[in-house]
Amino acid sequence: MTDLTKTPQPASPLDTARTQLASAVEILGYDEGLHQMLATPRREMNVAVPLRRDDGEIELFMGYRVQHNISRGPGKGGLRYSASVDVDEVRALAMWMTWKCAVVDVPYGGAKGGVTIDPRQHSTQELERVTRRYTSEIMPIIGPERDIMAPDVGTDEQTMAWVMDTYSVSQGYTIPAVTTGKPLAVGGSLGRATATSRGVVHAAAAALGDAGVKLDEVTAAVQGFGKVGSHAARFLSEAGTRVVAVSDESGGVVRSDGLDVAALLRHVQRTGRVAGFDGGDPIDNVDLLALDVDVLVPAAVEGVIDAETAVNVKARWVVEGANGPTTSEGDRVLAERGVVVVPDILANAGGVVVSYFEWVQANQAYWWTEPEIEDRLEHRMVTAHRAVAALASAEGISLRDAALAIGVRRVAEAHQIRGLYP
Ligand code: GLU
Repeated sequence: MTDLTKTPQPASPLDTARTQLASAVEILGYDEGLHQMLATPRREMNVAVPLRRDDGEIELFMGYRVQHNISRGPGKGGLRYSASVDVDEVRALAMWMTWKCAVVDVPYGGAKGGVTIDPRQHSTQELERVTRRYTSEIMPIIGPERDIMAPDVGTDEQTMAWVMDTYSVSQGYTIPAVTTGKPLAVGGSLGRATATSRGVVHAAAAALGDAGVKLDEVTAAVQGFGKVGSHAARFLSEAGTRVVAVSDESGGVVRSDGLDVAALLRHVQRTGRVAGFDGGDPIDNVDLLALDVDVLVPAAVEGVIDAETAVNVKARWVVEGANGPTTSEGDRVLAERGVVVVPDILANAGGVVVSYFEWVQANQAYWWTEPEIEDRLEHRMVTAHRAVAALASAEGISLRDAALAIGVRRVAEAHQIRGLYP
């Protein structure tokens, strides 16, 4: 049998996720059997997704849903549409969801889905057909009590509405709790669309606060200007942080006395990209990571801070808006250089926290007000941060190791208390 705990080179997201788990298992002193169980997805489904294109041609895509762990509750996690997504990446993302849900103590396991498709190459109608067929193929393993989907890279609230509708039609009645991150009109939650970004800013404020620093005293650079990065830049700027650079796939802009984030958002709404914004100078994605700022927020994709790029990071705090933006080697270099990394499973957990609120509201068929949601989100983020920071300082370990240790321990505890069947 393949040893699922070992980590070959170079670092893929799955290597990074496995190395992180191995480190937590060592801290917790777990045996090899428990390590194997925690490292191995509980259930996976690989599906072929045929699409009839608008011109009548048939094209085939591969889709995946990985339920990494369901010991603490239903699987929970996003659905990613990307040309590069494969089952190993989905496995890594599902594992991170397991620890993330446990760190913020929402009663879920971890799951993730993916379809290997570049959504930019397809019409809305084609994306709807792909989404409905994918949903129909994975139908046996999803449901409001089994596995609940949410948006991720390349998907959005419309995608979640299609998934919810396909599932509901197949069951014969409306089941809003099968997805989260839905439009408000079909049972979405206030505050969900910006929840990950709000959470990133709460996590940043808490980590800076531990060092006696406030958000309005620092500068920041944000890599990624999508669902997470754009609102994170906006909230940071509203909190008084001087946001000096942002970027997306098209490139970035830098302005040392601070970007006008509201004007940049309008530019991106109009043109679809950061590049071309005339309120700053162009900068590329790698140079952005090396800027002399206090806070760096990688909010795009995995693996951007590796051994090579980490050497040039000048920020004092790296707050991970993306999942897995730092490889294990990158982490080691950052630690040597005294950079404080606020890890993804804590920093970007705001999304799944409000997903949980959306699911609770849908199950109760009773919706909360925006202030109720924002207060509860902040409370969860601050509570999780305190527990992580306390363990890190008590044990002299990084925030990442502390967050992983808390998440992994909660999952292992649930598994052990339930006992092994048969
Ligand atoms: N895709 C988001 C994440 O990676 C949200 C997951 C969810 O809400 O289920 O955390």
